[in-house]
Amino acid sequence: MTGAVTRISGVRLFPGVEGGRALPMVERGCALVRDGRFLYAGPEDEAPDAQAVETLDGRGMLLMPALANAHAHSAMTLLRGAGAELPLREWLYQVIFPLEKRLDSRAAHAGVALAAMEYLRCGVTAVNDMYMFPEDTAQALGECGLRTLITNACVEFGDGERQLEEALRFYRDYHGSFGGRVRAGISVHAEYTSTPALVRRLVKAAEGLDNVAHVHVSETEREVKECIARHGKSPVRYFHDLGLFGMPAVAAHCLAVDGEDLDLLAKDGVTAALNPVSNLKLGSGVAPVERMLSHGVRLAVGTDGAASNDSLDLFEEMKLTGILPKGVRGDPTLVPPEAVFEAASRGGFAAMGFPETGLVRTGWQADCVLLDLDAPNLACARDFPAALVYAARGENVRLTMAAGRVLYRDGEYLTLDAARAVAGAKEASRRLRLEA
Ligand SMILES: [Zn+2]
Repeated sequence: MTGAVTRISGVRLFPGVEGGRALPMVERGCALVRDGRFLYAGPEDEAPDAQAVETLDGRGMLLMPALANAHAHSAMTLLRGAGAELPLREWLYQVIFPLEKRLDSRAAHAGVALAAMEYLRCGVTAVNDMYMFPEDTAQALGECGLRTLITNACVEFGDGERQLEEALRFYRDYHGSFGGRVRAGISVHAEYTSTPALVRRLVKAAEGLDNVAHVHVSETEREVKECIARHGKSPVRYFHDLGLFGMPAVAAHCLAVDGEDLDLLAKDGVTAALNPVSNLKLGSGVAPVERMLSHGVRLAVGTDGAASNDSLDLFEEMKLTGILPKGVRGDPTLVPPEAVFEAASRGGFAAMGFPETGLVRTGWQADCVLLDLDAPNLACARDFPAALVYAARGENVRLTMAAGRVLYRDGEYLTLDAARAVAGAKEASRRLRLEA
């Protein structure tokens, strides 16, 4: 089947980063989109003849790959800012877990819809989500045209077996839904909320499934110390030994990791999802990104939930991912912008199981962004992707397209009712007394 062609014309085209190298910029570029993919992406004067039913005028704008948020808890928009100024463990157990007990399915749906608005206006087209009420997350993100990997993560609070059954049911019902844009995963939440027996059962249950595990790993020094006291090994070694890293996996944070951990992550092909803002706000520290790169660990970038960020702007995460190691280690050559941009785009899509996504390239999935190059913070930008990592912000996004479909353009959400989403989230917050 061949569908209608959309033409994006008059742009400067930044195709993205591959293998740590920026692909050459096309000064007078254009893209043709058909059936969800780029029929063509390159110089305007070399574009094939194709009758376009719609032309998007990209003059003054940069066409670039869309971004992928590799670690998120979308419904936590309802808990934005809760428990501020507490360290992770107290924040989680004293504030977040009790508030989460009040949540219901309708509230989760509303919180995710609010997050979806923020993702779209910040150029994100794929979200790696881990939270309760995964069915509501799947509906809310799937309906508005985003891609997502949603993990129903088990926690062993005495009911691990039931949780595992629910996770498997969710996988069967939702994996590959919404035209393949919604993927389902099963995993455990973290070492400190699991038991070895639960992890082993989960690994066995996932045999033969097209599963990607998504788990919190070594987020703080304290977590690692306690894990060593319990099991005689680090969280990375724990999950490696139990077989969780025998399947494709995204390990969120990986902040307190040593050389042996990094070698294991690289060998197992695990993607480390970096969340610098959440790590800073919770006082957890700074991930050794430069050592991850030198050990060959795959990287992606995420926001974590809005309760510990508190925004969902991946441009902010890119900037901090790039500049924190420079400042903390006193070396401005560490973690180049190419590595950061690749992690936040192609690296994230690949980790979530979306191949051929994250470059503006002929034949690849048409997930892309138009960025306003006449904005004051970008008008004299000279280097790409450096300007995207250090200067750009979510507010510079003029258009977001996922799988060939325009989802956001100039403040308008084309696939969701923005007023309803905002009202729904506010109503849920009031009804469940989440601000109390
Ligand atoms: Zn998290």
